[in-house]
Parts: sequence; structure tokens; C-alpha cells
Amino acid sequence: YTAKAGRNSTVIFDEAALARRLEQNQLSLALVLAADRNEFVVHYQPKVDLTTGTHLGFEALVRWQHPQLGLLPPGRFLPLMEGTQLIRGMTRAVVATVGRDLKAWRAAGLAPGPVSINLPEVLLVGEEGYALFAAAVRENGLEWQDFAVEITEDVFLNRSADQILATVARFRQHGLSISLDDFGTGFASLVHLRDFPFDELKIDRSFVDGIGKDARSEQIIRAMIQLAQNLGKRCVAEGIETEGQRRFLMEAGCDVGQGYHFARPQPAALAGARLPQRAAADRRPASKASVAL
Ligand code: C2E
Ligand code: MG
Ligand code: MG
Ligand code: MG
Repeated sequence: YTAKAGRNSTVIFDEAALARRLEQNQLSLALVLAADRNEFVVHYQPKVDLTTGTHLGFEALVRWQHPQLGLLPPGRFLPLMEGTQLIRGMTRAVVATVGRDLKAWRAAGLAPGPVSINLPEVLLVGEEGYALFAAAVRENGLEWQDFAVEITEDVFLNRSADQILATVARFRQHGLSISLDDFGTGFASLVHLRDFPFDELKIDRSFVDGIGKDARSEQIIRAMIQLAQNLGKRCVAEGIETEGQRRFLMEAGCDVGQGYHFARPQPAALAGARLPQRAAADRRPASKASVAL
């Protein structure tokens, strides 16, 4: 409907937009309390060898268990956290949860492989990100290599690469591997590819989607895999949903894949149930690892 605002101007109220705005405001309010109330939940999606299907590791994906609305995907709440400090508390909760889950899996003799954490820009500058991992490693008797980090190209948008470089170099010194996530969709230039020390390139789902449908996506994927290979990086394709996509990527030389075709992100208990047992030689006591620190 319309309402008179002043003598000559008419303001048009879009009721749907208003309702959406109110809902967002309510969500934002609840989000402030979510970390303290332990409402963040971590789901795990496997990374597998594209040729053999062997389990290689997990990616940790956050969800919010909202008291009324149920389990919300990150797309519903991460945008609301932008420019706030809330993302710090959430990341803290995610890393702590992953640390505890890793400890439990190890104690059960399972081999989860490294768990990748999606790290926001704010934790790539200064001490905080480093301290988060150090605490999780120490408190759970883990090693740095039990974790990995995924960063999106967007981190290069606001920060100079130098600021992030210091943190990333320190992570890598401890044996933590770094992935460049959603490659080809953001703000990384070839200069970043040249100068930035990372271990893994993740091909974005939007390209994988085009396999079998769109020759350009296929050509770009081939070029990205070549680029990764030439730079000596591991290549991971995300969002693989079909056997055709898996085969295309494998034949194009991609090493690792992730997607519904292999497994959806699942809670720790379900994800753990599919894990291989650790080889006997690799069964170190949980506390021994922390001595190395
Ligand atoms: P991402 O890091 O690129 O994660 C991959 C997304 O693709 C996940 O969505 C995953 O559930 C989804 N996915 C995986 N396989 C398939 C598939 O075969 N088909 C389709 N259609 N989707 C698939 P999700 O869990 O909704 O996460 C969305 C984004 O939110 C993530 O994208 C990541 O950027 C961000 N995110 C998730 N967890 C965290 C977190 O703990 N911290 C931060 N800072 N960001 C996170
Ligand atoms: Mg990711
Ligand atoms: Mg990704
Ligand atoms: Mg993505």
C-alpha cells in the first residue's frame, strides 16, 4: 500500500521487504547470544580421493541451531555477522568443537584426517587465529596437522596480502595446510597465486555445475587444474553431485573431491561412523603429540 509522506511525495511500502527486514533484525538479535548459548553446530563433509574414493579428511561447516527456527545454514546468518565481532565468537566455537571431535575420533581409534576450518578475514590478521588453533591443539592433545585452513579470495579485498601473509606463514610453519577456497569467483589475482603460500586450490561448485552442460566451464576447469599442477598445488573440486562430474574431474587430473555424490555434510556422530580405523602404527597416545609443542 502507499502512504502520504509530506504534501507531494508518496512513499511506497513494500510489505514483503519490511517483513524480511524485521525477520533479519530478530535473527541478528538472537545471533548475539548464539555463541554463549552453544547454539553453533559443526557438520563434517569428507574430502575424498577422486580415483579411489578413499577418505582424506573433512571440511567443518557451521550451522546454527536456532531455538525456534531449527538448524540454519551459514547462508542465513553469516551475512548478518559481517562487520561485527560476532564472527570471532562463532569461529572460536567452531575450532573448539572440531578440537573435541578430533580428540574423540582419535580416542576411538579412527582416522579422520585433517579437518579444514573456513577462516574469516578478521582471524587472519594478528594473534587471535593462531591462539585459537594453539589452544585447540594443546587442550585436546592434537597436532597442528590435524587442522587445515580454507580462506576465500575475498580476504584479499580489504587487506593487503602482506598482513595475511604473516599469519599464514606461521600456520604453515606448524604444518597446517592452507586452501584457497571458491577459486575463480572472488578477488584473487594471479599475483596472489604467485606470491601467496598456499597448499591447495579449491575449484568452486559453480564451475563443477557446468560439467556436461557448458563447454566453457569445462575448459576453465581444465585450465585451473593445469595451473594447480604447474604450481605444485593440490587441486580439490567442490560440489560434485554426479558420477559424470567425478569422472570428468578425475580424467582432467584433479586429485581430490567433495560433494553430495560422496557424502553430505553430517553431524560428528554420523560422519565418524564412516571413518576408517587408524593403522596400529599410527596409534599414538592422545597426550604425546602435545609434547612436540
Ligand atoms: P564453502 O566453504 O565453499 O563450502 C561448501 C558449501 O557447499 C557448503 O555449504 C556445503 O554444504 C555445500 N556443498 C557441498 N557439497 C555440495 C554439493 O554436492 N552440492 C551442493 N549444492 N552444495 C554442496 P554450506 O555448508 O551452506 O556453507 C556455505 C558457505 O558458508 C561455505 O562455503 C563457507 O564459505 C561458509 N562457511 C561454512 N562454515 C563456515 C565456518 O565455520 N566459518 C566461516 N567463516 N564460514 C563458513
Ligand atoms: Mg570451504
Ligand atoms: Mg568452497
Ligand atoms: Mg563454495
